[in-house]
Amino acid sequence: MHIQKKDKFIVNKPKEHCAIFGVTCNDLGFSVTKYLYQGLIALQHRGQESTGISISTPGGKIYTYKRNGLVPKVLNNKILSKYWGNVGIGHNRYATTGATGYKSTDYMQPFHFNNNEIEFSIAFNGTIANFDEIKKNMNELGRVFITDTDTEVMAQLIGSIALGTEDWPEVLKIASKLLDGSYSLILMTSKGDIYAMRDPLGFKPLCIGELKDSKKNLYFVASESCAIDVVGGILLRDVKPGEIVHLSHQKDIHSEIILKSNRTALCQFEFVYFSRPDSIIDGVSVAEVRFRLGINLAKNDPILKNPEIKENAIVVPVPDSGRSVAVGYAKEAGLPYIEGLMKNRYVHRTFIMPGQEKRKIAVREKLNPIKSIVQGKDVILLDDSIVRGTTTQQIIALLKEKGGAKRVHLRISCPPIISPCYMGIDFPTKEELIAGRLQILYGEQYLEEIQKRIGSDTILYQTIDDLTDAIGKNKNQLCLACLTGEYPLKSIQKLAEMESSIIKSRS
Ligand code: SF4
Repeated sequence: MHIQKKDKFIVNKPKEHCAIFGVTCNDLGFSVTKYLYQGLIALQHRGQESTGISISTPGGKIYTYKRNGLVPKVLNNKILSKYWGNVGIGHNRYATTGATGYKSTDYMQPFHFNNNEIEFSIAFNGTIANFDEIKKNMNELGRVFITDTDTEVMAQLIGSIALGTEDWPEVLKIASKLLDGSYSLILMTSKGDIYAMRDPLGFKPLCIGELKDSKKNLYFVASESCAIDVVGGILLRDVKPGEIVHLSHQKDIHSEIILKSNRTALCQFEFVYFSRPDSIIDGVSVAEVRFRLGINLAKNDPILKNPEIKENAIVVPVPDSGRSVAVGYAKEAGLPYIEGLMKNRYVHRTFIMPGQEKRKIAVREKLNPIKSIVQGKDVILLDDSIVRGTTTQQIIALLKEKGGAKRVHLRISCPPIISPCYMGIDFPTKEELIAGRLQILYGEQYLEEIQKRIGSDTILYQTIDDLTDAIGKNKNQLCLACLTGEYPLKSIQKLAEMESSIIKSRS
């Protein structure tokens, strides 16, 4: 979801924007709101700012409720008993604090469209690259928009195509030919049908599941399979790139491939960081990928051949993001895995604070080295990614100055992030990305320069080949754009090239 934003916080890690979840039940007397609650709470990691649900009642009405806050706060018992129906969809949103319209429910999802002729509700995860252009065309046709989000543009576009027809697969087929971007979406009609659609390149995950007992059949659609597990369902399969799946409470699942592409572009960051380890995406276990990423790093690590370092080494994860990969690394290296950094779970974000000293304090509030564990040791520090590098620098300084570590060897499971994401992930600009900026300034020497600036004694990143091997997919099946600067969408490639030339001209 695109929202104009004004950052007040450091984005230490790229942030996924949204989670979507839908459920339909063939028993008209059964309410699915409890399942929406359970599914959305399982997907809370993909969006923590607002939560919303739309419920379709057997009488052909849609009711929507959305508010700022985490799932348990928004969908409290009063709301769960008030919103009652056998079909529903839900959404968790991540949006940067300070974003335009941040507190208004108009900016939250599901987006409930009702123009007295057509009524539907839509929830989506992704970003529409050409939404400005579509909006301008629709403005010229007299359409009035109440927000500046791509969600509303998408809903208005679908609403205008749907005028005078009930052929929803055809409506979505036409809309998808006009939309350029990354999106996984669910649309619920007032008749209680759910349509799930994934863009032709399949940037964002989307899967379907079922739950059958002697009395009722339920179908689910979710951003990640962990949500289907949590509601007690069985994962049936992923929605394929370019496919529309119709989940009906009256019939079984029906599907249609509407757009075929000669490649796909599933976001590699789903495996590295975004998704829950207990999810399976496009047939691949996220936990197993992270474990293999750790194994690969250890296999390529030259310090393990140095007996002086190896005998004194411990493997320490940056909590929580470095844990799975550290387990794989420690196993392959034959070294002890030890939690050497204590995390305060109640500090969620690091404020942007001017000055080195204030930034240090901010990281210290969040992480504390355990001196008795790290003192005098060669700490092999595992993390999933380096974005700006400022937090990593502070963690290394803490381990050395406060923890007394002898040396810190930084190992990163994601290859260097050199380019921003324009596909719906909250990323800093190329200039703010430490690897992006230093690669332009120092060419092939940029890794040495990163090491110097963040203060580690050695540094090792995952290679792109090892990343794709760990995922078990080839480069034509994944989006690797933030690692390569080569964007699968042509409209976005131009934007990225423009940003690189601006940085070069400034340096
Ligand atoms: S650019 Fe990076 S974060 Fe964005 S979709 Fe591609 S792989 Fe994912």
